Amino acid sequence: HLDRIAEAEPQVHAFLHVSGELARQQAEQVDRARAAGEQPASSLAGVPLGLKDIVVQQGVPATAGSKMLEGWIPPYNATVTDRLRAAGIVILGKTNLDEFAMGSSTENSAYGPTHNPWDLDRIPGGSGGGSAAALAAFEAPLTIGTDTGGSIRQPAAVTGTVGAKPTYGGVSRYGVISLASSLDQVGPCARTVLDAAMLHEVIGGHDPRDSTSIPQPVPSVVDAVRRGQRDGVAGMRIGVVRQLSGDGYQAGVLSSFRRAVDTLAAAGAEIVEVDCPHFEYGLAAYYLILPSECSSNLARYDAMRYGLRVDTSAIGEPMETAEQVMSATRGAGFGAETKRRIMLGTYALSAGYYDAYYGSALKVRTLIRRDFDAAFDAADVLISPASPVTAFALGEKADDPMAMYLNDLATIPGSLAGIPAMSVPSGLAQDTGLPVGLQIMAPALGEEKMYRVAAAFE
Ligand code: GLN
Repeated sequence: HLDRIAEAEPQVHAFLHVSGELARQQAEQVDRARAAGEQPASSLAGVPLGLKDIVVQQGVPATAGSKMLEGWIPPYNATVTDRLRAAGIVILGKTNLDEFAMGSSTENSAYGPTHNPWDLDRIPGGSGGGSAAALAAFEAPLTIGTDTGGSIRQPAAVTGTVGAKPTYGGVSRYGVISLASSLDQVGPCARTVLDAAMLHEVIGGHDPRDSTSIPQPVPSVVDAVRRGQRDGVAGMRIGVVRQLSGDGYQAGVLSSFRRAVDTLAAAGAEIVEVDCPHFEYGLAAYYLILPSECSSNLARYDAMRYGLRVDTSAIGEPMETAEQVMSATRGAGFGAETKRRIMLGTYALSAGYYDAYYGSALKVRTLIRRDFDAAFDAADVLISPASPVTAFALGEKADDPMAMYLNDLATIPGSLAGIPAMSVPSGLAQDTGLPVGLQIMAPALGEEKMYRVAAAFE
């Protein structure tokens, strides 16, 4: 895999840091244990993985795709990183992302975009475009993503790979650089559903160091995949969400989606149509809640504690007060999209506007959760396209934030409700010839149903 990385990286740029020496040592450790006749640490022992550069690994640079953290070397491991290592998984390096995981194309990375291996002039999705492209380019068989509004599922969809967002609280956020704490979730990315399930079981489960972690064992998703492979989906009720497959969706995506529905029906599933009337306000609510939480979380980059500190005295500007240092550093260290969201969030949270904006958005969030509750009374799982469009051209939407936000149409409702959701490849779009992802959503802690249905697409 290190050889493949060396070969593919000049075109793909999926990695921000490759830990060649460290990865070799970790692999040799697995080999030695095997030679000594020891039981492998897990069934994934020795398998290489790319870690999204927003999850920290001790001694390895972490940037979150931002200049703000340039040069910062975390002194500790995230719980996810500890669990990967305890399972004998070899960490190849850190994968590229939109700055602090904000974006849908990886073009907001301060270190340059990642290219989609299916067509190098196209985006690999975002924010976890590096993790998805590394899989599609065969640079790694497993990667870790984080999903706040779709950053695992949308990149999986546009690169023809598998990505799962667990139930909120299903995987520890300890050591994951925060974007929006009520939404952030770590999850597995892979080329097959079974691989994703195996990785899911390694990283999931309760962690006392994350107060929002669910105090329950990780769901048995590997068994669920095997059950899906053995028994299929016969008798399951699969709901098609009316609001997630009409206006704003590309024709080739919709026809692939309809074929997926037919496949499930032919396999014996009962297809029901469900209505989720508040989903149309999802995007608006998300783009108030996320900036609000992000403006608060990103306040920690104060030029004192981590990474960058800009010295403006070199260019003749005063550098006498903490505020001057902070404002010069934040001005230079954050990219345009990050600044846009910090400003939006600060505005939405300010006295006098809080109830009108943030308060209303929270009410919409509750209504969306209720839509899901009703839909899950009628269906075991819900399906939709994971991304409204196939991979678009690099640069095409870079200057149009609204066009970029619309890529999250299908993924955001599940994020706001905290439910598990994943994307599996459902074939190529007839109009563009590019991969389409099918989104499968399940009730909170319903990962087993979700993976069982996903197995139908292998
Ligand atoms: N595209 C979404 C956004 O820009 C998703 C981000 C994410 O899931 N980290 O906010």
